[in-house]
Amino acid sequence: MILIKTILVATLLLLVGDFLSTFLYHVPEHVFGKFHTIVHHGKNRSFIHYAVLNRNPLVLLDGFLGALPYFIFLPWGWQISPYGTILAIILGELHVVWRHVSIINWKTPIAIAWLCKILFITTPERHWLHHRNANLAYGDIFTFYHYPAVAWMQFLIEVKKKAR
Ligand SMILES: [Zn+2]
Ligand SMILES: [Zn+2]
Repeated sequence: MILIKTILVATLLLLVGDFLSTFLYHVPEHVFGKFHTIVHHGKNRSFIHYAVLNRNPLVLLDGFLGALPYFIFLPWGWQISPYGTILAIILGELHVVWRHVSIINWKTPIAIAWLCKILFITTPERHWLHHRNANLAYGDIFTFYHYPAVAWMQFLIEVKKKAR
């Protein structure tokens, strides 16, 4: 029972966190902002370097704003399952690091790539597509956020055009 609760709460927290982060921060930032594009999609920077290791305050701020939606529901998760909440934080953090491994030297093992495909989880290869082209591969953790994210992006682009 405790195991089911743990897994359920961890999954829910990551689902909600990725949803809010994608739709309230990531996509609007691509349409209206410059900040994430410069920081997260800058050229000629090694992947892990600027995503994880760089101490540039802008990078940290981008990371913080992107991560904020994950934190909102932690108190709620904690009340239901502290283990699940801790698991969500650990998995979320590990996934950030993992999806930013240097793509040049990285190839996701076939078994893991296959598992990710079944579970709709973003691999480093997939996330790298987004870094290279901001129209591709939305959903930092879950791949099924991509299509709604693109629809949302197109809607926001229309809003932006009309506002001019
Ligand atoms: Zn990234
Ligand atoms: Zn982006």
